[in-house]
Amino acid sequence: MEKGLGKSKEIKEAELLKELTELRHMVDAYQAIGQAFLRIDPKGMILDVNDPFTSISGYQREELLGRSIFSLSSEENPENLNRKIIRALFKEGHWEGEVFGKRKNEDAFPAWLSVKAGKKRGNTVLSYSAVVIDFTSIKENQKHLEKMAHYDVLTNLPNRSLMYDRLYHTLSLAKRHKYHIAVLLLDLDRFKEVNDSLGHHIGDLLLVEVAERLMETVRESDTVARMGGDEFLVILPEVGSSNNAASIAQKFIDYIVKPFFLEEHEIYVSASIGITIFPIDGDDPDVLIKHADTAMYHAKAQGKNNYKFFTEDINKSTVERFTLETRFRRALDKLEFHLNYQPKVDIVTRKMVGMEALLRWYHPDQGSVMPSLFIPLAEETGLVFQLGEWALRESCRQNKDWQDQGLRPVRVSVNISPRQFKKSDFMDIIQEVLEDTGLDPQYLMLEITESTVIDNVEDTILMLRELRKMGVGVSIDDFGTGYSSLNYLNRFAIDELKIDRSFITDISKDEDQKVVNAIISLAKNLNFKIVAEGVETKEQLEFLENTECNEIQGYYFSKPMSSEEMHAILVKDEPFEGTPYLS
Ligand code: C2E
Ligand code: MG
Ligand code: MG
Repeated sequence: MEKGLGKSKEIKEAELLKELTELRHMVDAYQAIGQAFLRIDPKGMILDVNDPFTSISGYQREELLGRSIFSLSSEENPENLNRKIIRALFKEGHWEGEVFGKRKNEDAFPAWLSVKAGKKRGNTVLSYSAVVIDFTSIKENQKHLEKMAHYDVLTNLPNRSLMYDRLYHTLSLAKRHKYHIAVLLLDLDRFKEVNDSLGHHIGDLLLVEVAERLMETVRESDTVARMGGDEFLVILPEVGSSNNAASIAQKFIDYIVKPFFLEEHEIYVSASIGITIFPIDGDDPDVLIKHADTAMYHAKAQGKNNYKFFTEDINKSTVERFTLETRFRRALDKLEFHLNYQPKVDIVTRKMVGMEALLRWYHPDQGSVMPSLFIPLAEETGLVFQLGEWALRESCRQNKDWQDQGLRPVRVSVNISPRQFKKSDFMDIIQEVLEDTGLDPQYLMLEITESTVIDNVEDTILMLRELRKMGVGVSIDDFGTGYSSLNYLNRFAIDELKIDRSFITDISKDEDQKVVNAIISLAKNLNFKIVAEGVETKEQLEFLENTECNEIQGYYFSKPMSSEEMHAILVKDEPFEGTPYLS
């Protein structure tokens, strides 16, 4: 027994030693191929680890021995993972799969874990061996590869393939929500020259900077992609109008012509841009891009450094509009604006009781541009504030000047655009202009439109009261064309209603007579003065003479005239005779 026992002990020791040696060899073998390896007992306690595992885990070997393997499992793993592994080992003797390990510094890392049963005695497993592959760098590589597949390496912009994805996606949204998308294809004009003369290295630097400038110009929701070479594609979702696309294209062009400083070189290039609009020019990515390409070649053919829409009509209207806008900005600086004055004539005495100041834009090459063209543009671009204030100031100054010359004082009416009226400093500006010019407020009248007053009734009521307190008159212009609810007209401190010209023009028609009569009786009830606009014929005048209309403004008595002509009229100060105007 003793012997037996002794023998068995010897055998046991020998077996254990053999086992340990085998294990050691295994550990070494894994170590040799750089694979992290560890051995655990059936309870999950670590029996041995190799160096690669210590470097993955961040622990020293001694810190790991006797520690539970489960303490190296990250919280990012699903809750039941440990149980799943234990059951698989119990039933099948092995498990492998993706897990998150936890390093000593608590960082989680993605890994591949492969565990299998090691030595057995009878049916009892004595230990398990586990191989761990750290996926961190593989995952990073994967991300890198993905990025390489979607992004241009040089500029970091989305490449052609990601651009297609985005365009496809943007188009499907736009189809659903029915909005317009603009696709801009931009090609540099002198890139080949730069490349050929200064080398590819400078060419590359140039492309990187062009990409940066493009990115700086667009909004976050827009996509700028590099199509290859010196070609870039820009997707503008929800562009609104072709005008916006044009203005962004122009911004690109303006920005790209500025010098590039690359190493010791100062480089000048320009860009040609082709623009297509969804849904007008096509509704799939290929067609839109193809047409943008055609448009871009037209831009090149027409002297480069410009943009072209694929659709000729858009081209025409947008370009006209856009050049108008550019010219308009310049006109403000150069004071190409002036005022004309049109008399308002008392219907009984035929004497001038007031005048309306009307803006004129005289362009040195293009001649007169009518306000119907540029006022809406001024509204849209915000230039109306500057322009409107100028018109107000100039009308007041001129009127005061005439009065100072001893001429009979009359009231000057100035048109105020809705945006001007709604701006918070509007009242201050009126006050300031009156003070600066010295004009008595009773000689100023503001013409506002129906839409202006009904837009924000409560504020308007307060402002109109304030104006009345100041002594400034207020007139509702183009009355009858808006939607003013007659209900609250009586709440406004208004002095005058101007019946819109359209009713006067058709006054021979029965229904228009009814409208005019209705407006006049309403105005009378509310104690407003009534002015009829656009009176051209004797017939119109006679009709109005039989109503309670107070004043006439129209070609029958006088067209708008220059300040010199108005001066002469004031000097004469005679009643108007009037002649029918034949258009
Ligand atoms: P509005 O205020 O209704 O001005 C009257 C318009 O009718 C003027 O056109 C005037 O020339 C025209 N008119 C007057 N009598 C007759 C007539 O018998 N027959 C015809 N066919 N037309 C007549 P205009 O000068 O082209 O001005 C157009 C509009 O532009 C003005 O309409 C006004 O809304 C706006 N506007 C003019 N000046 C200014 C300004 O300084 N500021 C703002 N915000 N708008 C202005
Ligand atoms: Mg007016
Ligand atoms: Mg009017």
